[in-house]
Amino acid sequence: MKPDVLILGAGAAGMMAAVTAAQAGRSVELLERNDRPGRKIGITGKGRCNVTNACSLLNDLIAAVPVNGRFLYSAFSGFMPQDTMDFFEENGVPLKIERGNRVFPVSDKALDIVDALQNACRRGGVKFRKGRAVALLCDGVRVTGVRTEAGDVLEAENYLIATGGKSYPLTGSTGDGYALAKQAGHTVIDPKPSLVPLEAHEGFCSELQGLSLRNVTLRAEDTQTHRTVFEEMGEMLFTHFGVSGPLVLSASSHMREMSPERYVLHIDLKPALTYEQLDKRIVRDFTENAKKDYINSLGLLLPRKLIPVVARRSGIKPSEKTNQITREQRAGLVELLKDFTVTVTGFRPIEEAIVTSGGVKVSEVDPKTMRSKLIENLFFAGEVLDVDAYTGGFNLQIAFATGHAAGQNM
Ligand SMILES: Cc1cc2nc3c(=O)[nH]c(=O)nc-3n(C[C@H](O)[C@H](O)[C@H](O)COP(=O)(O)OP(=O)(O)OC[C@H]3O[C@@H](n4cnc5c(N)ncnc54)[C@H](O)[C@@H]3O)c2cc1C
Repeated sequence: MKPDVLILGAGAAGMMAAVTAAQAGRSVELLERNDRPGRKIGITGKGRCNVTNACSLLNDLIAAVPVNGRFLYSAFSGFMPQDTMDFFEENGVPLKIERGNRVFPVSDKALDIVDALQNACRRGGVKFRKGRAVALLCDGVRVTGVRTEAGDVLEAENYLIATGGKSYPLTGSTGDGYALAKQAGHTVIDPKPSLVPLEAHEGFCSELQGLSLRNVTLRAEDTQTHRTVFEEMGEMLFTHFGVSGPLVLSASSHMREMSPERYVLHIDLKPALTYEQLDKRIVRDFTENAKKDYINSLGLLLPRKLIPVVARRSGIKPSEKTNQITREQRAGLVELLKDFTVTVTGFRPIEEAIVTSGGVKVSEVDPKTMRSKLIENLFFAGEVLDVDAYTGGFNLQIAFATGHAAGQNM
């Protein structure tokens, strides 16, 4: 018996769509290439799963989606973060709200989210099938079947592509959905990394590898327009290739015109102090260490790993006695600590990105139903679409809301 609905991909969007369609009385089959569904959900939020963002205003939600946010207007209206929260609490996962309205399971276990979705599917009679979709059979008007890697052809009334993006391919999301969408005649906007670590020009990054800075302010400047595209306080990390960590990932999603040296990061290492306060603080440290070499006088001000790099960049001789350092040299040091620059040369590869930007062109998809405007029984949901959001639980909210819309309308 062919099912009413065949869903390709048992991730966040696919499982939410399956539950919704099943609750509406549809027979549903979910095709998943992995042994277990929801592998990517399992690693979200460092294994804690920031499942949604408890913001209650539709406009705030849309504003967190820098590209094609308006496309999500209907899907979000029909399934707001509160609906996501109700869904998981009703399915046995108590939730808590943390800084920035980020919502997590009280257990801090992303696998509880996966289990809740999987159990809700099972209760709704959704049939899980293991296999990888490799071709969409299409007669130009309708999808007539899906061919799997094993050579089977699966048929249904309606088909949903919810195969995710291209990042973290070990989770199963390898970008297959783009090829399937193209087979149905859809345009795919070139997938690019977003929420991704950054490669940097300066060699000192590898020297600082492993150094994590907390409570710094990071400002990203577009050197062509001289505009600040991102500014926030938080945590970042130096790596062998450049920089990473929460602040950097967030900054990356604002760098929409990436090319080598287009963006410069300005890091304020001492955001709690004004230039004058920092200068006074340095004068005090230098006075207390009047006979010490400059390089040995920075221990109270900076993490150990950063000292040789700051000393070098400040242009003051490491062996200079602190009581010999001039006012101008000190001003240069203050400037360096308040504006420690890193020149970005590019994104890390898409495989290392948290989300994929680009995907199925949204003008070819009906925003109310997630139905293809080209093929009448084909739907899309989740990251396979050309929408991506900032950090904070918004990307999963997109998957749940679009999955819900597709599930209701199949
Ligand atoms: C490290 C990391 C941390 C993250 N943390 C968060 C977070 O805390 N909060 C947040 O909002 N977002 C987070 N995200 C982003 C979020 O996980 C994704 O945006 C979301 O999972 C997308 O859901 P999806 O259902 O579209 O795709 P996915 O969850 O990727 O699911 C797609 C599914 O389709 C399957 N599949 C793929 N191709 C085929 C095929 N050909 N045939 C059959 N099955 C196939 C895959 O195996 C997979 O199970 C994180 C992402 C990463 C990588």
